[in-house]
Amino acid sequence: MPELPEVETIKRSLEPFVKDKIISDVEIYYDGIIKYPQPEKFKEMICGRKIIDINRRGKYLLFHLDDNNTLVIHLRMTGQLIVCDRDISFGKHTHLIFRISSRQDLRFTDIRKFGTVYLVPTSDWTRIKGLQNLGYEPLSKKFNFETLKNLITGRKRLLKVFLLDQSKIAGIGNIYADEILFSAGLHPKREIQMLTQSEITNLYNAITQKLEEGIKYRGTSFSDYVDGRGEKGSYQEKLHVYGRGGKPCLKCGALLEKSIIAGRGTVFCPKCQS
Ligand SMILES: [Zn+2]
Repeated sequence: MPELPEVETIKRSLEPFVKDKIISDVEIYYDGIIKYPQPEKFKEMICGRKIIDINRRGKYLLFHLDDNNTLVIHLRMTGQLIVCDRDISFGKHTHLIFRISSRQDLRFTDIRKFGTVYLVPTSDWTRIKGLQNLGYEPLSKKFNFETLKNLITGRKRLLKVFLLDQSKIAGIGNIYADEILFSAGLHPKREIQMLTQSEITNLYNAITQKLEEGIKYRGTSFSDYVDGRGEKGSYQEKLHVYGRGGKPCLKCGALLEKSIIAGRGTVFCPKCQS
C-alpha cells in the first residue's frame, strides 16, 4: 500500500500536469470506486471544474477545485493515479478517466478495487471518517519530540500498533513502521508507555528520517506502487528489514525474524531491536 512517502511522491509528480487544468470530462468504468456523491452527480459536479491546487494529508490525495469542493482519493492497496497521453490504450483495471487537456488524461487504475474517491466541500471531511480523524503530519512543524511524547505518555499500546494508528500519526504503514523501528533499535512489541526519554528521541528521529528518505528515493516500489508518471521508486533497494524476514541483518548478521503483530507481518532484528 502506498504510504506517506509514496503518496507525497505521487502528489509532487502529478502537480505540474494537473494544477490549473480544467476537468473537461470524466469517464466512469466502475461505479463502486466513487463513494460520494452518486456517480452521476459526481460527474455532473466535477465536469468543467479547474484543479487549483493539489495536497496530501496522510495517505490521502486532495485535489482542490475552483468551486470550493475537493476531490479526495485514497489509493488503498493497489490504486494508481497516472497522467498519460490520451492515445495510450487502457485495460480493464482502469476505473476512472479524467480528461485534463486535449492530449492528456488522469487515470485511476486499481486491480484490487479497494481505492476510494470522494467529492466533498473543501475542508469539510465529515463524510470521510479516516480523513477527519487523522493525526499529526509527521513531517510538519507541529510534530516534534514533545508531540510524540504526549501521544505516548500513559497509553498502553504495542509500538508497532501505535505507529500504524492513523489517528495518532498520519501516513505510516507497514513498510515504514518496520524500517522506523529497526532504525530506532526498538522491538515492535515494546509497550509504548515503557519507553525512556532517549528511546522516544530515537523513535522521533527515526520517524522523520525514514519518511524523508522514502520521499528522497521517490517511494518504495515493492509491488504495485508507481508515481504519477508511472515510474517506480527506488527506496526498496534501501530497506533494512521489510520483506527481508529470514535473511541476515545488514547491521549485525543475525537472522531477521518475522511474526504477526497487530495482524500485520512484521520483520525485525532480534539482536539490534530491544
Ligand atoms: Zn541486527
